[in-house]
Amino acid sequence: MTILTNHLPTAELQALDAAHHMHPFTDANGLAAKGARIMTRGKGVWLTDSEGQEVLDGMAGLWCVNIGYGRREMAEVAARQMEELSYYNTFFQTSHVPAIALAAKIAELAPGDLNHVFFAGSGSEANDTNLRLVRRYWQVKGKPWRNIVIARWNGYHGSTMGGGSLGGMKPIHAHGGKIDGIAHIDQPYWWGEGGEMTEAEFGLARARQLEEKILELGPDNVAAFIGEPVQGAGGVIIPPETYWPEIQRICDAYGILLIADEVITGFGRTGNWFGSETFGIRPHIMTIAKGLSSGYQPIGGSIVCDEVAATIAEGGEFFHGYTYSGHPVAAAVALENLRILQEEHIVEHVRDVAHPYLKQRWDALTDHPLVGEAKLVGLMGSIALTPDKARRAKFSDEANVGYRCRERCFANNLIMRAVGDRMIIAPPLVITPAEIDVLIERAVLSLDECYAGLKADGIKVG
Ligand SMILES: *Cc1c(COP(=O)(O)O)cnc(C)c1O
Repeated sequence: MTILTNHLPTAELQALDAAHHMHPFTDANGLAAKGARIMTRGKGVWLTDSEGQEVLDGMAGLWCVNIGYGRREMAEVAARQMEELSYYNTFFQTSHVPAIALAAKIAELAPGDLNHVFFAGSGSEANDTNLRLVRRYWQVKGKPWRNIVIARWNGYHGSTMGGGSLGGMKPIHAHGGKIDGIAHIDQPYWWGEGGEMTEAEFGLARARQLEEKILELGPDNVAAFIGEPVQGAGGVIIPPETYWPEIQRICDAYGILLIADEVITGFGRTGNWFGSETFGIRPHIMTIAKGLSSGYQPIGGSIVCDEVAATIAEGGEFFHGYTYSGHPVAAAVALENLRILQEEHIVEHVRDVAHPYLKQRWDALTDHPLVGEAKLVGLMGSIALTPDKARRAKFSDEANVGYRCRERCFANNLIMRAVGDRMIIAPPLVITPAEIDVLIERAVLSLDECYAGLKADGIKVG
């Protein structure tokens, strides 16, 4: 049996890593110069690295480990499924129990008439499915010209061609281009872009850009709008309360399909099963991945409403699918994850225990001289680092403040991510109040060190 434990000294693992392993979203030479931190174990909210350091994972891996690391039941289900039926496809008029059971369970949990699931291997793939699905929908409806999808600048929908094009991250578009027929509007990021407007005014103004864009493109040319209920990778941008109701009104008024990318916000992250419930969104399609399996297996999918599924069916065969759509091991593991989330009342834990406790401690971070605003929905939060709170000012790019702060967190065994000048968290949903105390303690220490470092380097703060 191949046993992959910490079988080599860290430096040798780092050298092999640098020599052979191409990392996602990474400057390879920069990483090779310092060496990757090598994680070896995980339990609950804790990671252990190859040097034996205990790290509090404030990001649940990549926003995905909702039930926490190292649950034995998940391993047992995977092992049993591999022995029983390790693989079969769902292409040619065949199906299998894990895919059937998982689709039915997701339909039960999803709101409204989101009753149909098309499986993918990841969130990016699911959004590629969505792009093809909405265009196919309008074809079947006899309007093949209705094919433009509107998305947001600084949205994130994955990094395949489809996902990367739907996303509004210019550095991603710059590497390999962008698919035609995708238009972007501005994001509802009040702190960074709201100017003199109140949050409520700004939310409406940004939502109304959707209407302006629809009118500019011609309402009969627009297939769908896609957005994350809360932008995750863009910096945990929690929209003003006025935003989503106005988006919903506009989609309804022009008969445009609404896709909620719930890859992060799904499965309890915002204190409800889906972010759409938290924000009052009624999507036709939801993108899911990440928390669907808590990252124990790669799996994603699109949850599709009755009318869209019926229209696709009317069109006959839809020429689309992945070898691993509904993979039996991934599906069985995801189903076990949903059982754990439900039977252990983890969504309620977020809503009633973890969120209220973290909220009070997170908000208090605004007492720190570096912290302008603190935002939190469920268990996804962000703070804005600023040299001048009253003006909502930005640090210069050279100050590199997000990177500095993240480095301090990393050194203090807290994983907190930086997006520009925002520090973000999304811990496993099972985090306890005592663990939240550790998270906050390490965050404050890191902010203090970052602040001292800025001062020492002559960068003006406050
Ligand atoms: C992570 C993410 C994706 C992409 O999912 P992958 O599994 O990495 O392909 C898509 N949408 C959102 C909102 C995400 O956060």
